[in-house]
Amino acid sequence: MAIAEAAAVVTTLKNASDLVQKLRSSQSKEELQAGIAALTEMLVNARIAALDILEQKALLMDERTSLNGRIETLERENRKLVDFDDQSQKYERVKMPTGIFVYREKQAAGGNSQPPYLCPHCFAEKKARILQASSDGTFFQCHDCRFGEYLNPQP
Ligand SMILES: [Zn+2]
Repeated sequence: MAIAEAAAVVTTLKNASDLVQKLRSSQSKEELQAGIAALTEMLVNARIAALDILEQKALLMDERTSLNGRIETLERENRKLVDFDDQSQKYERVKMPTGIFVYREKQAAGGNSQPPYLCPHCFAEKKARILQASSDGTFFQCHDCRFGEYLNPQP
């Protein structure tokens, strides 16, 4: 944990500072040499710990960037779902001659064009996907999930 390591670095630097104060008044060459060796070790350890903290900080920043991206993606997906729910009232369920249900946009009063059929599987997943008609107009297929349906019961 970076916070615990940072606290340890601060403690080490305080101990080093206290040792410097103590060594200033020392007259003993041996005590000074031992103090310098101890200070060197403290500073090396503090430097290693500081580098570890920087490495952890970089990892945390990468993680944060990744999580922010994930949050943006989820917010975008959520907006799509909310938008779909808002618009779902404009669709109606339609029974095909074969007995299968599909969806299509409700026709506006006085409208004369037939709205396209929508895939029931994709609609259940809150995606409005048009069922594409075959060239002879007898078969409809969703190009997203491959759901297919004949317009009339097959003989
Ligand atoms: Zn589909």
